[in-house]
Amino acid sequence: MEEKIEKLQEWIDRSKRIVFFGGAGVSTESGIPDFRSVDGLYRQHYKYPPETMLSHSFYVTHTAEFFDFYRTKMLCLDAKPNAAHKKLAELEKAGKLTAVVTQNIDGLHQMAGSKAVYELHGSVHRNYCQRCHKLYDAEFMLHSKGIPTCFCGGTIKPDVVLYEEGLDQRTLYGAIEAIERADMLIIGGTSLAVYPAASLIDYYRGDRLVLINRDATPQDGNADLLIQGSIGEILSRIH
Ligand code: NAD
Repeated sequence: MEEKIEKLQEWIDRSKRIVFFGGAGVSTESGIPDFRSVDGLYRQHYKYPPETMLSHSFYVTHTAEFFDFYRTKMLCLDAKPNAAHKKLAELEKAGKLTAVVTQNIDGLHQMAGSKAVYELHGSVHRNYCQRCHKLYDAEFMLHSKGIPTCFCGGTIKPDVVLYEEGLDQRTLYGAIEAIERADMLIIGGTSLAVYPAASLIDYYRGDRLVLINRDATPQDGNADLLIQGSIGEILSRIH
């Protein structure tokens, strides 16, 4: 492990256009459960799997149930950035990291100070009335009851990409461009099981592909440096 951390440090020191690509595992050390870990949402035995409850068709057909799940499991508004979020923000400030591409919707990278964040799956912090497009914050959603409704009578929908919905094109192309230009790609805290997000890492052409994850992923064999462990703990050892 020591040798791997040293190599990670050496590569970070040599790089100028680092991109970080992450997922729910980046926020578990902030207390937000992921989907696929042993204590993830898949193991919590809901009536439906989380990916069903966060799908567009479920939103349309079971709207009240969708919002119950969304409020209790996706809105973790007391969570604070952990060492991983903070280190990535520091690297950006130091002019070494050009972008964070995240599948997360929790806003913790921005809370840590990151500016260039591509939120592939949107954010719980933006919610729009489907009729008049008025913007509501996450606090409003948390304290709403039943189906959140705008003063105009429209339903307020989170600006989150549900399963079955397409990604925002501008966000997608921005993320692809950053990855294509990167001289180091650090992937962390993601099972790389959710598509099309996981396929974005194929745009990386460099030779410093680092993968930091607790469990095995389908890309372990392609990593130039594979570190199995907790991303906050590992990144906190980088200076
Ligand atoms: P996932 O649950 O499929 O996989 C998480 C991965 O992270 C697992 O492989 C696990 O081993 C690893 N992991 C967990 N904690 C870790 C840690 N501290 N350090 C290193 N690795 C750790 O998550 P995913 O790949 O992001 O896909 C799930 C989808 O659900 C994504 O769209 C994701 O954004 C969304 N989601 C988001 C949040 C959030 O915004 N915080 C929470 C749950 C799910």
